Amino acid sequence: MDVFSGQQHEKRVSLVTGGAGFLGSHLTDRLLAEGHRVIAVDNLLTGSMRNVEHLAGNEDYRFIKHDVTDFLFVPGAIDFIFHFASPASPIDYLEYPIPTLKVGGLGTHNALGLAKEKGATFLLASTSEVYGDPLVHPQKEDYWGNVNPIGPRGVYDEAKRYAEAMTMAYHRFHRIDTKIVRIFNTYGPRMRLDDGRVVPAFIGQALRGDDLTVFGDGSQTRSFCYVADLVEGIYRLSQSETHDPVNIGNPKEMTIKQFAEKILARIETKSKIDYKPLPVDDPQVRQPDIERARELLGWEPKVDFEEGIEKTIEYFRNFLGLKS
Ligand code: NAD
Ligand code: UDP
Repeated sequence: MDVFSGQQHEKRVSLVTGGAGFLGSHLTDRLLAEGHRVIAVDNLLTGSMRNVEHLAGNEDYRFIKHDVTDFLFVPGAIDFIFHFASPASPIDYLEYPIPTLKVGGLGTHNALGLAKEKGATFLLASTSEVYGDPLVHPQKEDYWGNVNPIGPRGVYDEAKRYAEAMTMAYHRFHRIDTKIVRIFNTYGPRMRLDDGRVVPAFIGQALRGDDLTVFGDGSQTRSFCYVADLVEGIYRLSQSETHDPVNIGNPKEMTIKQFAEKILARIETKSKIDYKPLPVDDPQVRQPDIERARELLGWEPKVDFEEGIEKTIEYFRNFLGLKS
């Protein structure tokens, strides 16, 4: 038996955990466009079927509702496993601290076990959070990071660090073909309006006329990458021979206050800035060094901030039923 029973297997088959999420659904679209068959596995903890409703009836697509912290088996051939399942926004992983640790630990182990069973290439969605509140700037892949294991963000950061260690152990011990992408703040359509991340938070607040909640004095920095650029980098990494982690992100850095001002300048609104306390262990700076991606994958971001943010604002306008 086979998930795509009755169909011939001239096409490559990819399994995407977290396939109903923001990134997993965009990656699925790309893989289908590349001619893959895609099996999405998601327990809908933070994702939504709305992100994949356009795929209903696509004969190259299957959705399996399943928690990947439980034993994971899928019949038939699988060529690639993209392990994207995990709460990803600070308010999500603070609400689900133990599921976050479990999906990074047990979920990664199960996904790697399936990759071993199928002889599949495995790609882990890791994060710039492995660098914690970095003491090196910008962050290069050989920096080991500055993470507080017992702070509130530790559930996410340490789960991802464990997931990286497990991935490298499967590569070294079981000789699995593995890749690790360290994703820096990525934004775009299909983010959840209420997931608390700064991009949907500020756009949603501005569209509703609420004040923008800048945490701290807004001097902390982030570097925002548009989702299409990220997916391009991940696809290239999946086809590469690279086993070491690769940063994928847009190096264009700005302070959170500057980001708030850019949103206020783009959306006609009565909103102003409202300063709120800085969350515990909020990283002060974050910017990817992307030399490795440039060199090994020939990748660099192409979508500038103005273009990406406009598309994202448009998505949230439609989502809220507002006119352009
Ligand atoms: P998201 O919340 O939209 O997607 C995560 C998906 O995983 C959701 O659909 C959720 O339901 C699913 N999921 C969670 N636990 C699961 C479990 N136990 N079993 C099955 N499915 C489960 O978040 P996202 O932004 O799309 O993030 C996707 C991945 O990329 C995550 O692993 C995240 O850590 C990583 N990442 C994202 C960013 C970013 O900026 N978006 C940055 C760094 C890393
Ligand atoms: N932030 C903010 N107001 C908000 C949400 C976030 O000022 O309503 C800040 C947050 O403190 C952090 C930055 O924006 O410094 C990015 O936060 P996000 O949750 O998007 O991702 P992080 O990079 O912290 O994982």
